[in-house]
Amino acid sequence: TDAARRPAPGRSRLVVLAGPTAVGKGTVAADVRRHHPEVWISVSATTRAPRPGEQHGVHYWFVDDDEFDAMVERDDLLEWAVVHKSARYGTPRAPVEAVLDEGRPAMLEIDLQGARQVRESMPDALFVFLKPPSWDELVRRLVGRGTETEEERERRLETAREELAAEAEFDVSIVNHEVHAAAEDLVALMLQSPTDL
Ligand code: 5GP
Repeated sequence: TDAARRPAPGRSRLVVLAGPTAVGKGTVAADVRRHHPEVWISVSATTRAPRPGEQHGVHYWFVDDDEFDAMVERDDLLEWAVVHKSARYGTPRAPVEAVLDEGRPAMLEIDLQGARQVRESMPDALFVFLKPPSWDELVRRLVGRGTETEEERERRLETAREELAAEAEFDVSIVNHEVHAAAEDLVALMLQSPTDL
C-alpha cells in the first residue's frame, strides 16, 4: 500500500460507497445499519424535502437553503454536491473526523461528485463502487422505485449512464445482485486490515 493512502496509526480508514443512481446504495447502507451497529454511517445534510417515513437526524439532516449556505460558508462539510440538478447534499465533517480518530469503522454513502471531492481531501479513504448486475437491471430499478416524475427519471437515467463509466476511478467494486449479500461484502472489506488493501 502506498504510504499516503494509509491512515495514521490508531485511525480507521474511511470507506466511501458510491455508484450510479438507483443502484441501491441507500438500501445497502440501510442493511449495514441494521445488521452492523458497530459500523458508523454518516448522516448527510440535504435541502430536499423528507420522503414519508424519513426522520431528521436519522436518514438525513433536513435543512433549508440558508442553513446549507451557512454550513458551506463555515467549511463544515467534508464534501457537498447538487445531485440530479435538484437538491444539495453534503457530509458534515466533524462527526467523520471524530469517528475515524476513535478507530471505528466508518462509511459515507454519497454520489460520485462527492466521492471525487473526498478523494482529493482524504486520499487514505477506501473508495468502493457499487454497480448494478447490468444496465437493464439498473433501468428496472430506477423505474421500479416510482418515487420520481417522468422528467426526474429521465434526468436520473442520464446521470446514471455517465456514472457507470466512473468505476475505473475506484479501488474496489461490489456488484449489487442482492442487497444483504452486497452489504456483507462491504462490511467484510471494512473490517479487513487497512494494510491488506
Ligand atoms: P436520495 O435523495 O434518493 O436520498 O439521494 C439522492 C442521491 O444523493 C444518492 O445518490 C445519494 O448517494 C446522494 N447523497 C446522499 N447524501 C449525500 C452527501 O452527503 N453528499 C453527496 N455528494 N451525495 C449524497
